[in-house]
Amino acid sequence: MTLGPRCTFVPPFLLERIAASDHAAADHCRATLARDQEFRAGRETLQPATAVPAAGSPAWVVDTAANGSTLPGRVVRAAGQAASGDASVDEAAVGITATLSLYADVYDRASYDGQGAEVVLTVHYEQGYDNAFWNGTQLVFGDGDGKIFGSFTKPIDVLGHEFTHAVTQFTANLTYQGQSGALNESVSDCFGMCVKQRVLGQTAAQADWLVGEGIFLPGIHARALRDMANPGTAYDDPTLGRDPQVGSMSDYVDTTDDNGGVHTNSGIPNRAFQLAATAIGGDTWDGAGRIWYAALTGSGVTAGTDFAGFAAATVAAAGDHADAVRQAWTTVGVTPGAGATTAASPSGSAAGQVLRVRRTGGIAGRTVEGSVDLSAQGATTEAARSLVDRIDLSAVAEPEGSLPDAFSYTFEYAGRCVTVPRHRLTDDQRALAALVLEPGDTAG
Ligand SMILES: [Zn+2]
Repeated sequence: MTLGPRCTFVPPFLLERIAASDHAAADHCRATLARDQEFRAGRETLQPATAVPAAGSPAWVVDTAANGSTLPGRVVRAAGQAASGDASVDEAAVGITATLSLYADVYDRASYDGQGAEVVLTVHYEQGYDNAFWNGTQLVFGDGDGKIFGSFTKPIDVLGHEFTHAVTQFTANLTYQGQSGALNESVSDCFGMCVKQRVLGQTAAQADWLVGEGIFLPGIHARALRDMANPGTAYDDPTLGRDPQVGSMSDYVDTTDDNGGVHTNSGIPNRAFQLAATAIGGDTWDGAGRIWYAALTGSGVTAGTDFAGFAAATVAAAGDHADAVRQAWTTVGVTPGAGATTAASPSGSAAGQVLRVRRTGGIAGRTVEGSVDLSAQGATTEAARSLVDRIDLSAVAEPEGSLPDAFSYTFEYAGRCVTVPRHRLTDDQRALAALVLEPGDTAG
């Protein structure tokens, strides 16, 4: 068996065979073939959003990708326009309005850049896409797979979370790796939570502190994506596994997955925020929110700031609440000002002939793994072996190339390992990931 030179996402011959059959997966394969043609046409490029000068309320526009991968897609609704009738479009409209309002009314900030940049949001991205992310210029939301995840536009705090990644990019620009990456994640949860509590009119004491509540479909044993008050307790389900978040430095997870566990260790600063907000009392966005915003946008926090450095910046910005904020950090095992960055150690390599592929990251911080024994027989193994031969598995990963909440893929084979952010996957890497992680789509 040989793979033609135009082979991309998944070996086309496998897809075409299933697409032409009566197999239950035929429709899905036809859709994947169409998507592959889009990739070949180079349409999945990241296009810059248009920035406009500040004039009253910052402008926003919601586009639809119509289940394709072209960004930003076709405009459906803009600021000031009536509801469209498309639930995802209208959820995004409500969410961005509430988010811009929080930043403008409480923190006196015009849009994510502070200059009133127009916000571009794309919904219905790809098919069954289990994620939402900020790609450096715009917000992107998938519809979810319809089995585990519903639409990522549904929880308003998910939208506030993604928008805050943009604010962080234009302020402290915390490096998306290790402790600074976990802080990048945490401040997105903190201000996403401020959006949610302000919309619901809840005080810190009344709030449930659940991030992404309502994103899981019925039948999944999950309350939310994350619980800021009790990290590690948001879900425990046979399909999803158990919420891996930690809420104390003594449980800090040292890993190379997910940019150094950014969605796992973010539970530590998340809990410090929840404890501080509750101790200060009243409205979270007004109390702890103002202090965290001052830290994020002040000179004390820079790209490489660790937990202790960020803690010190919040204590410095806390005024009369300095003791409460210091106590909150101490409770989660962080001593403000005394930095000690935990170095990441490389993960173990795959043994023998087994090829392992891991998809990590995503707003849910969920790891999906798959493996193929390349010494075995079969069409899938053949295809995987052919792709492995063409991929450089000794290339050095580039953490700075990672986008907030975007998926990363790690390929391990014969003691070699490479991690690549989704938008930088080569066609061969994309095809290999699909083959190993979604074998049902190709092998039937
Ligand atoms: Zn995030």
